[in-house]
Amino acid sequence: MTSEPLWTDVISWLCGRSDSPKQKAVLRKIKFRECNNIPGDLETGDKSRYFAHTGHFGNTVCVSKDFSRLPVKNRIGILIHEIGHILSGVTDEPSADLYILDNFGIQIQYKGAKELQYIDVDFK
Ligand SMILES: [Zn+2]
Ligand SMILES: [Zn+2]
Repeated sequence: MTSEPLWTDVISWLCGRSDSPKQKAVLRKIKFRECNNIPGDLETGDKSRYFAHTGHFGNTVCVSKDFSRLPVKNRIGILIHEIGHILSGVTDEPSADLYILDNFGIQIQYKGAKELQYIDVDFK
């Protein structure tokens, strides 16, 4: 899948910011896959904001087919937000972002037409 190298970069970046061997081992075990069953907003049926989810397959971040069309900084933000859900075990949005801030010092922002997760970083 086209987003696979980005996933590898994201995991490496987070591992580089973690002081905990245990946390790094957990990060490296998270799986990533494409999924054609990403539900929209339950109340509005709006699928436009929903490019990824967790909790569908164990320890796995699923992304939709359209995910790869998003700007890279939105993709990074979304992946790390979803990783925040898996690592923290919480389902609410602010807590997932707070976990990432507390553990990795990374602030997830919300930018773009759809107010998507966004992280201003370049992997080199
Ligand atoms: Zn899924
Ligand atoms: Zn979320």
